[in-house]
Amino acid sequence: MDFELDDTQRAIQDTARAFARERVAPAAAENDRLRRFPADLIRGLGELGLLAVNVPAAYGGSEAGAVAYALAIMEIAAADCATAVTMAVTNMVGELVARFGTEEQKRRHLPRLAAAEVLAGAFALSEPQAGSDAAAMRTRAVRRGDRWVIDGAKQWITSGDVAGVLVVWARTGPADGGGGGVTAFLVEQGTPGLQVGRHEDKLGIRASSTVALSFDGCEVPDSARLGEVGQGLRVAFAALDGGRIGIASQATGTIRAALDASVRYARDRQAFGVPIAEHQAVAFMLADMAVEHDTARLLALRAAALKEAGRPFTREASMAKLWASEAAQRAVGRAVQIHGGVGYTEDFPVARYFRDARVQTIYEGTSEIQRLVIARELLKDGASRG
Ligand SMILES: Cc1cc2nc3c(=O)[nH]c(=O)nc-3n(C[C@H](O)[C@H](O)[C@H](O)COP(=O)(O)OP(=O)(O)OC[C@H]3O[C@@H](n4cnc5c(N)ncnc54)[C@H](O)[C@@H]3O)c2cc1C
Repeated sequence: MDFELDDTQRAIQDTARAFARERVAPAAAENDRLRRFPADLIRGLGELGLLAVNVPAAYGGSEAGAVAYALAIMEIAAADCATAVTMAVTNMVGELVARFGTEEQKRRHLPRLAAAEVLAGAFALSEPQAGSDAAAMRTRAVRRGDRWVIDGAKQWITSGDVAGVLVVWARTGPADGGGGGVTAFLVEQGTPGLQVGRHEDKLGIRASSTVALSFDGCEVPDSARLGEVGQGLRVAFAALDGGRIGIASQATGTIRAALDASVRYARDRQAFGVPIAEHQAVAFMLADMAVEHDTARLLALRAAALKEAGRPFTREASMAKLWASEAAQRAVGRAVQIHGGVGYTEDFPVARYFRDARVQTIYEGTSEIQRLVIARELLKDGASRG
């Protein structure tokens, strides 16, 4: 077992860390306050190769692997979760096209996604009536000759308004209770019939864009189909396995930011004649945050390493997502507590971390859904992998 990063992983981590410190962190509070989408930062990430970390170099990606990707997300998330989630979804779309796309689709979309030429990618699975239960989707695509006509509504779509290309799932056959009859399509922004609806007014990650979409006779050619007809949910679940490593990494970055801010504050702030860090109750909170950070990081990197090795990682990705996102709730709560009254104001970043962390147990599968996945995999495989 080797806990050392290789040169490529270290280089990606260093690049992301420097960009996070110099560009992302200084802009985070203001972008959050103004609910301003950080387009300049996304372009910067594209210039550094961080929008397609695990995409083949032949298509403009960095081809640095799943571990490097997890490390990059940790760095950006420690500075700003809104930027990190936009980056994560774009990487996820790029990986999907690389894995399931035709040669023509790869050549058309991947270099432009990698370089932020289309700014971002979007993943349009959830609907007003179908979140956890994605197979209950109602958006429908009907084949007309060599074209498909999409009608329906999507909700909660990260970057749905700014993304140049969106992966859209639609029902193309009867519901079979098991998720058959769903197909994925690559829809380009500006396609007639695709309309951006309301922007969600969110508790946190307010600089990211989360919108509703409607499809009204939206026509795409059959060449825009991603994967086989009826295999859409297989495509979606494959993406979500990888996406969960992304959210676990995001939560790990959040815990680190909360811990670093808390250590700084606990050293500076005096109460009863000593720095509050010298009160054992405070020191123990710091210790617990450090342990939870490291466990979250290890679980995320284990899942990423399995993915990179081409081994099964569904269970490990869900474990990492579940643990890291729930640990992040505890960490941001402790961080606010350690900051006392100022922790409850926007004068210190921990209030933003507290708001931003909350969504991590919800999106890309709630904690309840992660437990279902872990239990299902356990029961299928028989025992824990030692
Ligand atoms: C900021 C934000 C960004 C998002 N970005 C995207 C995006 O880019 N693309 C996209 O497709 N979606 C996106 N989502 C949607 C997100 O993935 C869903 O909100 C999530 O999957 C939960 O679905 P839901 O909101 O419909 O809740 P529901 O599915 O209605 O769940 C409500 C509650 O019931 C619980 N529950 C449901 N089923 C079960 C069960 N079988 N057992 C136990 N408990 C259960 C859930 O855990 C939850 O606590 C985003 C959401 C948010 C908030």
